[in-house]
Amino acid sequence: MIRIAAIAAALTLVAAPAFAQTVPAADIATAAQGIEADVIAWRRDLHAHPELGLAETRTAAFVAAHLREMGIEVREGVGRTGVVGVLRGTGSGPQHVVALRADMDALPVLEATGLAFASTATGTYQGQTVPVAHACGHDAHIAMLLGAARVLSGMKDRFSGTVVFLFQPAEEGVPPGEPLGGARLMIQDGALENPKVEAIFGLHVVPGRAGTVFYRPQGFMAASDRVDITLHGRQTHGAWPWRGVDVIAVAGQVIQTVNTLTARTIDPTTTPTVFTIATIQAGVRYNIIPDEAVMSGTLRTFDVAQRDDLVKRAEAAIDHVAEAYGATADFSIRQNAALVFNNEELSAWLAPVLTEVAGEGNVNPAAPPTTVAEDFSYFQNEVPGVFYHLGGTADGVDPATAAPNHSPRFDVNEEVLVLGVKTHALSALRFLERE
Ligand SMILES: [Zn+2]
Ligand SMILES: [Zn+2]
Repeated sequence: MIRIAAIAAALTLVAAPAFAQTVPAADIATAAQGIEADVIAWRRDLHAHPELGLAETRTAAFVAAHLREMGIEVREGVGRTGVVGVLRGTGSGPQHVVALRADMDALPVLEATGLAFASTATGTYQGQTVPVAHACGHDAHIAMLLGAARVLSGMKDRFSGTVVFLFQPAEEGVPPGEPLGGARLMIQDGALENPKVEAIFGLHVVPGRAGTVFYRPQGFMAASDRVDITLHGRQTHGAWPWRGVDVIAVAGQVIQTVNTLTARTIDPTTTPTVFTIATIQAGVRYNIIPDEAVMSGTLRTFDVAQRDDLVKRAEAAIDHVAEAYGATADFSIRQNAALVFNNEELSAWLAPVLTEVAGEGNVNPAAPPTTVAEDFSYFQNEVPGVFYHLGGTADGVDPATAAPNHSPRFDVNEEVLVLGVKTHALSALRFLERE
């Protein structure tokens, strides 16, 4: 028996490459399972104390304190309220640098989940006091990334290279007057430098069967642009439209034009596109045609060149419509989030890694694109990365009818928190183990 064991040990030594260690996925799973109660407690604490974008001071302090407790190097105030944690492996092997990202902000939503730890917090949004809630699951994101930091810090002697933890503020956009959202603020403040990040991974909880992971290579989540259109006409009596320029009628034509351009000039099979006019403000009285109509909307696209082309054509078409009726149009467009573009090579590489912890049949690397947006895209503009979704619907509930993100009833199935800890930790670890 002793002889056989000695031979087996010798064989293992020969088989294991000297330059790179491989931590079994089972070890990650065991470590993640061991801290499940902490991760759930963190999530509930954060859920009860949500903060709006760029106001995440309690959240940032919470994150920084926990990272320091784990012996992780911390930089605070990166991108205003952002926090960066740096964990250096002490094992021998390649010296890669990989980043994992979680967003920290909540939304101006009055929570209606009925949870024991539901939010009663308020914040200031556009000068008004508003209810605040974690209606997009960012509380779960923070807890899962802290969990991954705990797992990886507990095995830092078993890997080489560096993991950078990015806790990002203001993913949901910033108040008017703030030029940049959280991802761009962090990049501007050097979050991807010192050490220089080579690749980045991130996740989002969405409606979906608990325990499933899904994403797609290339365009996964839409680029999101805010569109503002102001039409200038000439005020007149409602009974004498010909004595002025009727911007109300022009506004109707502009909406038609935008809808038709999108429906009739775009190939929906290759570049899905949504162009929505969502607000119109015009007029004060039933018998006065006003001078001005102000409209706003959103454009969602999956291809940079096609988006630029549509914007150019829409602006020209709106000008022409206005001109035909003697009005003028101001058109402006502002990008809220770039296209979430998953690097093809890393997307293919990641699927088996995620399967190691999510299990066979639970990872879909060819999911359909989604018209919601994410500013994770700006990190992907700097370094290759993959963003994936984690199904988080309560057991027994149909994901198709579950309360979606941003709903006052949105909730995360806490059973998926451990999976998120595992996918974060293993994606970082396997990247560090690459040759
Ligand atoms: Zn959201
Ligand atoms: Zn979100």
